[in-house]
Amino acid sequence: MSEYNLIDLKFTGRKMKKWYKVWNLFLAYLDLLLRREKPHADPVELSVGTTSFCNLRCIQCPREGHEGNLMPFDEHLDLAYYQSLEPYLKRAKEVSLYGLGEPMIDKRYFDKVRYVTSFGAEVSLSSNGTLMDERRCREIIESGIKSIGISLDAAREETFAVVRPPGGLPAIVENIKRLSRMKKEQGTLRPLIRLSFGIMPQNLEDLPLFPDLAAEAGGEEIIVHSVIFMSEAKRRELTTDPQKVRPAIEAARARARELGIAFCVWDLDPFTYLKSLRYVRGESEASYASSSATGRSSHGYFCFFLWRNAMIQGHGELFPCCYMTNKRLGRLQNGNLLELRGHPFLAELRRRLYEGDPPEPCAGCPQLYPYDRQNILKSGLQEMINLIRS
Ligand code: SF4
Ligand code: SF4
Repeated sequence: MSEYNLIDLKFTGRKMKKWYKVWNLFLAYLDLLLRREKPHADPVELSVGTTSFCNLRCIQCPREGHEGNLMPFDEHLDLAYYQSLEPYLKRAKEVSLYGLGEPMIDKRYFDKVRYVTSFGAEVSLSSNGTLMDERRCREIIESGIKSIGISLDAAREETFAVVRPPGGLPAIVENIKRLSRMKKEQGTLRPLIRLSFGIMPQNLEDLPLFPDLAAEAGGEEIIVHSVIFMSEAKRRELTTDPQKVRPAIEAARARARELGIAFCVWDLDPFTYLKSLRYVRGESEASYASSSATGRSSHGYFCFFLWRNAMIQGHGELFPCCYMTNKRLGRLQNGNLLELRGHPFLAELRRRLYEGDPPEPCAGCPQLYPYDRQNILKSGLQEMINLIRS
């Protein structure tokens, strides 16, 4: 593990410049309304890693069998690195402060949260829940993090130990209960606690039991999603029979309704990553169009990642999105993010989406939305008003 740079980032007393964010959001909606292939706005949302070390070895994790992955592994980002993001933090509304690793391993995690929030950006966290002791729970609450997502993928320890080795579900459930209890004691709604379940053949039987576990732990929202195959070997290991998946989801949904917990299904095409490998390697354009799951649409589509997000991992390396980690677009240096986001690879993707012709990695992706000008205008106006009032 590398050592941290001990620097004083002078968090306190920084003036919030909401104006930057409002202007940038306006520019971002203009990019979308004008169907620009090269954006004029900086990202409204940033996805920035913090550490890529982890203490679990989940069988579906991109870390385990991620064919063609170019995202950096096993490194910490020091605080000084975040200073280089300052111009973008000023303009971003939200920052997802995690990457391919467990953020709670990072001893300076909450310094980074404080630094990011000092620019008025909201932070969301994703954790495996193993290290949430009393001190960290307190810091999570006090830092004002907006939401925390904890992947459990099981309702019983015997299943958990198979899908998220080396196991330890009961201790994680106790940690989530602690966070939930401390939130209540402090009278705060933050962070929203989301518990997620990635469907695999190894854990399908647990899915109908999951809402009970979530309710017991104090989860406020359940996210159920398919897992992406990162290699042919993983496809063989993790393919779930669709005939069995639907009844398990419906049983879980019904139970969540009885328990009064929000229940969300992200219908992600599990082949997304493998298709992105082919797309990035530049196979024939015709094959993408012919195998597109959504087909052509006269109104077109847009993608949240391509439009308003920047996936920056390692020390400033830009990737198209969290599914195409096999395509590195360049390194962020000297404030050239706008130029990088106008990269021909991204411009081409945007063009194809706007033209209603999504290539394979995008078809079936939950980040893909139908292009509806009325809706875009309405949600843009609402978002601007909410931001100004916040
Ligand atoms: S906890 Fe997250 S980063 Fe760690 S192995 Fe599991 S899925 Fe991967
Ligand atoms: S639509 Fe395409 S570019 Fe956008 S997140 Fe999905 S796979 Fe990535």
